[in-house]
Amino acid sequence: METETAGIAASGATGGCLCGAVRFVVAGPIGPAAYCHCSDCRRTTGSAFNVSIGVPVTSFALLSGTPKGFTATAESGNALTRHFCPDCGAPLYTSSPHHPDRIFVKAGAFDDHAVVAPAHQSWMRSRVAWAGIDPDLPAYDRDRPAESGA
Ligand SMILES: [Zn+2]
Ligand SMILES: [Zn+2]
Repeated sequence: METETAGIAASGATGGCLCGAVRFVVAGPIGPAAYCHCSDCRRTTGSAFNVSIGVPVTSFALLSGTPKGFTATAESGNALTRHFCPDCGAPLYTSSPHHPDRIFVKAGAFDDHAVVAPAHQSWMRSRVAWAGIDPDLPAYDRDRPAESGA
């Protein structure tokens, strides 16, 4: 088992939580990502929408840490368990008995954002008006100068 995980780590895309306690690897090619605008994803991400990548559960391996899970029945009627780091709270992946062969890894948890290639967006009926970023908003390379340190 350890050798198998080591093999995956050598060839796969790695990721983890904010504090670094939880680390994972996904073997093989990373498939398309999807935006989800549902209200539960908005709550759990604390942002406008979720971006995740469905991967075969057999290609996913935890390298360290033990995520905590929270299960809720989604508007779709499916029970979804969202897994997150119990120390820093970072969302990591979602699983469901509705699709036991796949898990949905949070796109932002990957170390290399280049592996993320969104292909569609779901639950548009729940999308908030500020989900898209107005290109005319003032933009800064770092913190907004007047508010740095906030
Ligand atoms: Zn953490
Ligand atoms: Zn969602």
